[in-house]
Amino acid sequence: TTFQDMFDRFSDKIPKTLHDNMKQCGFVRPTPVQKYAIPAGLEGRDVMCSAQTGSGKTAAFLIPMLASMIKNHHAIGDLETPFTGPCKPDTLIFSPTRELCIQTYEDALRFCYQTSHRCTRVYGQESAKRQIAELAKGADLIVATVGRLYDFVKAGIINVEEVNCLVLDEADRMLDMGFEVQIKEIAFWRAV
Ligand code: AMP
Repeated sequence: TTFQDMFDRFSDKIPKTLHDNMKQCGFVRPTPVQKYAIPAGLEGRDVMCSAQTGSGKTAAFLIPMLASMIKNHHAIGDLETPFTGPCKPDTLIFSPTRELCIQTYEDALRFCYQTSHRCTRVYGQESAKRQIAELAKGADLIVATVGRLYDFVKAGIINVEEVNCLVLDEADRMLDMGFEVQIKEIAFWRAV
């Protein structure tokens, strides 16, 4: 199987820009986890994946999520009137560490090249001020570590009520870190 085969099969679901960006990134053949997870994600199913580090899990969730986001969600960059907060992302990725958060954000950025969709990242151990300034411009996709995301949701800086697609990257690790209550609270958040 090649990605071209996947695009032929799901041509109505995968935007051409995304396909072009993947080619630019050197993606020709899906890894085994991608071969199973991407079609399931494109069909709108919930997916739980378990595979070794370096097996291509990031793209396994990014590709179907971004395909849906680009196809179905109005890009913040296309707004006719200037954006005013709070930031209401379509897609949310929980990351266990700052390093993974940055890496995933950079992958998302490459795949979103030449779309009007904005990606941003939110993590601890850095002043919140710069991140709040970024969020004030709006974002369609946010990659975030749990603690900082929780603070921003509580403070009303990020509103998660319009999230269509949610990823728990390395969920086992985030649970080991004791984030279960915060993850659930964000996932089931309704502003009061
Ligand atoms: P990951 O396991 O998600 O951290 O991916 C490991 C590395 O492999 C990253 O640099 C990806 O960009 C790259 N990669 C993932 N899937 C593919 C693929 N199908 N073809 C080429 N490179 C890939």
